[in-house]
Amino acid sequence: MNRILLLALSLTATIIKGLRIDAGAIVVSVCPHKRRQRLCPICGHRCEFYDAKAQPRRWRAMDLARSMCYLEYRPARVRCPEHGVHVEAVPWARHKARCTRDFEDWVAWLTVHGTISAVAELARIEWHSVGGICKRVYDDLEAARGQGRFEGLRRIGIDETSHKKGHRYLTVVVDHDRGCLIWAHAGYGKEVLNRFLDELTREQRRAIEIVTADGAKWIKALVKRRCPNAGWVMDPFHVVSWINDALDGVRREEWQVAKRAARDAAPKRERPGLPAKGDETPAEAKALQEAAETIKGSRYALVKNPSDLTDTQKEKLDEVRRAGSHLFKAWELKENLRAVFHSSSAKDARALLDAWLRRASRCRIPQVVAVNKKVRHRKDDIIAAVELGISNARVEAINNKIKVTVRMGYGFKNTDNLIALLMLRCSDNKPHLPGRPVKGEKEKVKKVA
Ligand SMILES: [Zn+2]
Repeated sequence: MNRILLLALSLTATIIKGLRIDAGAIVVSVCPHKRRQRLCPICGHRCEFYDAKAQPRRWRAMDLARSMCYLEYRPARVRCPEHGVHVEAVPWARHKARCTRDFEDWVAWLTVHGTISAVAELARIEWHSVGGICKRVYDDLEAARGQGRFEGLRRIGIDETSHKKGHRYLTVVVDHDRGCLIWAHAGYGKEVLNRFLDELTREQRRAIEIVTADGAKWIKALVKRRCPNAGWVMDPFHVVSWINDALDGVRREEWQVAKRAARDAAPKRERPGLPAKGDETPAEAKALQEAAETIKGSRYALVKNPSDLTDTQKEKLDEVRRAGSHLFKAWELKENLRAVFHSSSAKDARALLDAWLRRASRCRIPQVVAVNKKVRHRKDDIIAAVELGISNARVEAINNKIKVTVRMGYGFKNTDNLIALLMLRCSDNKPHLPGRPVKGEKEKVKKVA
């Protein structure tokens, strides 16, 4: 029986002492092998006994079929000459964790592939515990990877993203070549960016060829000083987000106008409540109401890339097209600007951008005219981005993934946990499912050999 349990719970260096049922859960009493007892949880060295915990401690383990399962053990406290007094390390769990290593790896893997609320329900844990689990798993993965995170960086992107309803900022750094997040930190500004650059070696900083960022001048100056071989280009993602914001502004304005028109066309009623007989809304007013509703619900259909639209969103876009208003014109201008970044050469990009600038300056849509000015000002930077092959699609994909993840972890009280979630989901250091061979590990070993 003990051997079956050791296998089912995949326990190593552990002895099973007993088994019982407590309040519908399976509780397995365990203790570490003698050589794995009295170890410092930080350095792993064998330490002198300090005292024993008064109460046994429980760790949530992987469920055994439908039943929840806990490991129970009364750990000692040990005194490490270097790290002081701590609860001893146990082979089945990470330091300070209340769940086993396997359980945490499983939760972290699920969080990368699903929503936090679904994971919390499936794993029968609190929504808030997911953050702490992500943090411990990520720290472990990073420690296992060592210094390799910044190896071979050539083209990077620096961006800020906000969380807590735009009250707090995060600085994120992405690797354009691998298409993944490599660094994230709370705050924004010179000091934070300097922290990132401090983590790179001198050689790594010198190896950076291209840095993309928004239009902020201080980034340009800082990058020039610390990465002497790097060229700076405008991040295509920002240019597209300018036009998307303008498009949304046009949509909101048209919606207000349509709403007002629908209200004016509706018959005035003297008394509130259901319309009296012969007092129904005329067809004309109904049509105006519908038009206002279409504009209201068209936000995602307008902003999303046409290739990603759902069938309903395609219909919405068609309705906007049929209405033939300024809104559709603004949408066309957005698509034309996006096309600039898909050009195969700088020459094509320049021709497309010139045509766009001409159209945009004549379109008589104030929001687009404002973007036109900004784009004209950054024209050379935009062409440079195309010339250097910074594909907007890739930058957009990783930025969207970051935004979605920040929204997911919105309720996390601890920013470090949010950053760990971001790194797990968006970096290339992904958690593994417990008990499965790690994907790509064999190839990696072969390559190294
Ligand atoms: Zn120690």
